[in-house]
Amino acid sequence: MSKNIIALLPDHVANQIAAGEVVQRPASVVKELLENSVDAGANNIKLIIKDAGKSLIQLIDNGKGMSPFDARMCFERHATSKISKADDLWSLTTKGFRGEALASIAAVSQVELKSKQENEIVGQHIVIEGSKFISQSECQTPTGTTFIVKNLFFNITARRNFLKNDQVEQKHIVDEFERIALPHCDIHFTLISNGNEILNLAPGSLIQRIKSLYGSYMQKDLVPVSENTSFLKIGGYVSLPDTAVKTRKEQFLFINNRFIKNPFLNHAIYEAYKELIGFQSHPKFFLFLEMDPKHIDINIHPTKTEIKFTDEKSVYMLLLSVIKRALGKANVAPSLDFENSITSDFVTTDKVYAQPKVSYNPDYNPFKNAASTGYSNDEGGLQKANKQNWESLFSGFKDTVGNDVQSETNEQHAIEILKNETLEYNVFQLNFKYIVTSFDKNLVIIDQQRAHERSLYEHYLKTKSENRISSQQLLFPEQVELSANDFNLIKDLKEEFNVLGFDIEEFGKNSIVINGAPADLQDISVVQTLEGILETFKLNTIDAKIEKHDNLCRAIAKNTCIKYGKILDDTEMKLIVNQIVKCDNPLYTANGKPVMMEVELNEIEKFFKK
Ligand code: ADP
Ligand code: MG
Repeated sequence: MSKNIIALLPDHVANQIAAGEVVQRPASVVKELLENSVDAGANNIKLIIKDAGKSLIQLIDNGKGMSPFDARMCFERHATSKISKADDLWSLTTKGFRGEALASIAAVSQVELKSKQENEIVGQHIVIEGSKFISQSECQTPTGTTFIVKNLFFNITARRNFLKNDQVEQKHIVDEFERIALPHCDIHFTLISNGNEILNLAPGSLIQRIKSLYGSYMQKDLVPVSENTSFLKIGGYVSLPDTAVKTRKEQFLFINNRFIKNPFLNHAIYEAYKELIGFQSHPKFFLFLEMDPKHIDINIHPTKTEIKFTDEKSVYMLLLSVIKRALGKANVAPSLDFENSITSDFVTTDKVYAQPKVSYNPDYNPFKNAASTGYSNDEGGLQKANKQNWESLFSGFKDTVGNDVQSETNEQHAIEILKNETLEYNVFQLNFKYIVTSFDKNLVIIDQQRAHERSLYEHYLKTKSENRISSQQLLFPEQVELSANDFNLIKDLKEEFNVLGFDIEEFGKNSIVINGAPADLQDISVVQTLEGILETFKLNTIDAKIEKHDNLCRAIAKNTCIKYGKILDDTEMKLIVNQIVKCDNPLYTANGKPVMMEVELNEIEKFFKK
């Protein structure tokens, strides 16, 4: 007798299997919930996680909310409000469309939903665990939707055991968060992890969003990219060749605001940098492509980072040429931050004075001779522009012995000499804030605080364990009580502090003793400075991922530099000017703020011709 052995899987097993496609880790839940909130038109989205999302993922949005019926329906498989027929797949403007995410999440966790539409007085509260509907009731809740996802994989031990440690899982979450936050810079996003606010991204421009995610110093590494054809729009930023790094960090490609991975288009981007960056170096990019959804097939992978286009070749060619052009342009026109820059203080009659001028060849195109110039001896990019900037400051300048520096046959040699020479500048102080001087007949105004901060920063940055700054013992060692947090931070940074000249010792519970400080700091309050340094350090870690030593150098420079309001004598001013011109990047502070401005002689002459 034949024996039937096929049976339909029980729903909860089928659901768990299907969920595996969508929910691999906490970050997958975060991605789906964030996407739903964006699709729901929210302009304020708050994500709260505990234990890297393993015990809690809570998402609060102020989007359009759900009706009582929809609130219950949304957990059903293939329940979506975003498409209703197959053709809709070719005109998608939403991130979701499969109606699978919430069903999958509910299959492998304990979920609570609170949601209310604007015209309703009360909202809906739904509880569902491992696909099992527990309850639906009315509740008080603001317009919008809140999802609480607890104990992910509580019913699948094996999946839970596959999760990595909290640090790794949280990194995945932050990655997903960035992929949504970057293209939606008009939305206010907050990320709170174990009670600490990690990210708070106010609505603003793309560059502002990039700066709040990766630090304001990032801006000087980037150039804008822009192209608009009837077929494809390209916008965003790419990094200058000389800022290429050894790791693939900050590489983002979006199509219609959806993060994608596409090796073919990646190749186009790298092709644009060919000959400009070294072997195994990687550019940063934030590229936004927009095209009619009918040319895109996103229906290829459930997690949807891989997509297909109808005309990949044209996209490739356009992307390549647009980036090349942007890099070419950048070499002659450094991108300046006019949004946040010093200019607002210096705008007179609509005229924005120039930053120190780049002496450039307007016809220069790094791609013309790309093959012959090669990477090693071609600096390219803003670094070069910057260097030319300050090199040009000296053109025609007399050195201390009265020789015209420009007449040196070997310009590089001249610059080396200049870097080691103390030059005589005519200086005076303006409003206890600026040092006014002249470079090559042009008028130059230097921000005293920022200039000093920059040169200290570079000085500290170049300090390594081999050439540590010597510490001068304090006459009266200072004992300081700290919060547990700060105490741990100091413990963690002890060696770094030591290298930079601070002699710090632990002294019982949450207490330290400062035995010595860098000799330069002898006349300022060491305790106050140390507290300031810790504050700045912590602030920097919130809004940017800066390496520890770099961060500490910034913090120390910021807290030990001379401040506005300090009356400077001639010798001090000359010292500051001499220090700043010897910097590798004298034009900006570590956080990307302008350090000096230049008014060209011919501008002055033009004015008096009136
Ligand atoms: P999809 O996003 O593919 O449609 P989901 O399972 O993610 O599928 O969501 C199902 C449906 O639930 C959505 O189509 C939407 O109508 C509704 N929904 C989900 N999240 C929200 C939210 N945050 N605000 C309003 N409606 C939502
Ligand atoms: Mg969805």
